[in-house]
Amino acid sequence: MPATIDLTDPSARPVRASAAQEGKPMLVGMNRDELVAAMAEAGVPERQRKMRVNQLWHWLYVRGCSDFSDMHTISRELRDRLNDKFSVARPEIVEEQISSDGTRKWLMRFPPRGAGRPVEVETVYIPEEGRGTLCISSQVGCTLTCTFCHTGTQKLVRNLTPEEILVQLLVARDRLGDFPHKDTPQGAIVPAEGRKVTNIVMMGMGEPLYNFDNVKKALLIASDGDGLALSKRRITLSTSGVVPGIARTGTEIGVMLAISLHAVRDELRDELVPINKKYPLKELLDACRNYPGLSNARRITFEYVMLKGVNDSLADAKELVRLLKGIPAKINLIPFNPWPGSAYECSDWETIEVFADFVNANGYASPIRTPRGRDIFAACGQLKSESERMRKTDRLALEAMMIAGHGAD
Ligand code: SAH
Ligand code: SF4
Repeated sequence: MPATIDLTDPSARPVRASAAQEGKPMLVGMNRDELVAAMAEAGVPERQRKMRVNQLWHWLYVRGCSDFSDMHTISRELRDRLNDKFSVARPEIVEEQISSDGTRKWLMRFPPRGAGRPVEVETVYIPEEGRGTLCISSQVGCTLTCTFCHTGTQKLVRNLTPEEILVQLLVARDRLGDFPHKDTPQGAIVPAEGRKVTNIVMMGMGEPLYNFDNVKKALLIASDGDGLALSKRRITLSTSGVVPGIARTGTEIGVMLAISLHAVRDELRDELVPINKKYPLKELLDACRNYPGLSNARRITFEYVMLKGVNDSLADAKELVRLLKGIPAKINLIPFNPWPGSAYECSDWETIEVFADFVNANGYASPIRTPRGRDIFAACGQLKSESERMRKTDRLALEAMMIAGHGAD
């Protein structure tokens, strides 16, 4: 049975927002130069600033500290001054759900930016044999309107800030026990191989390349070797095909790339992934072919959602193989995850297997991605924030759809 942890119960409640809600600037999400400027603002003498930034970096990203008072290598007096001006508090976690398959989903609430309202964002953790993947959101809602995607039915509310993107990783590490206990002596840090979150994917809500600068900043901090130290090979950015952002992702961020392909002919892709009208298949695949750092060891993942009678024929599989010729690639076949009001059905299992076998036989690894966390609506394309949280009647309808087998597990 899935479990929802009741966060109104104080004993279950993780660190709650305090300073962050008071509107103080957050230190999480600042790069080193910005932290140096923040130290200047807190009155740290110039010759000490770099050293203080290194200390802070360690506390924030190696130790996962969310309270200045725990940073005991920094004098109490400076901690107080920092606390007056800045915050390192975590956001409010509205809900934590644990699926019967171990998938976890957190709903986090972020304070308003400017005149806006608070926003809510979903982050999903998927444990698998030998690895654990965190699926991070980059926007609240999405400007794009892919017809099979639930997020696409929600208008863009706003871009997430670097801090809001990064803190999704920090919260997951807190909740999964990936940070050392605050009393652990310096030097006795959890080794990387013992961690639960081993990989991150920018595959939550939103189109990361329409929030490029903030995503870049967050991912460069996540991969910084003196902090969170996630290898760039374990970070994947997924795009629906914002062509001008693709080369920049390779040169400026250097992470792995995934493309939401879903169709192999422009006519169909224009319908399923409407950004295709702006950047059609040829341009998209040329950008992939030229992806900086591409090699057999660093392949592009092409995501392909299996929609019954729409894009799942053997002819589609053949065209897919033809299109990807010469591009070091993996193909992820994603069984369509239904949502209330969606116009599609998931392909039959046999159809998916025939498709996968053909693609495999032509030299492409093409795992069929088992849907995870469907019982807590954490599967691909099911995310939608609180601002439009599923009504109970919709939830019941979705459950009925899955029981009736339309979900094709
Ligand atoms: N906006 C980015 C990243 C987020 S979507 C992008 O489109 O790539 C993450 C993946 O889930 C994408 O490949 C998306 O196409 C897929 N997806 C969306 N809705 C889905 C659904 N209902 N069932 C299965 N996969 C879905
Ligand atoms: Fe946006 Fe990606 Fe969903 Fe398309 S699939 S609507 S780009 S989140």
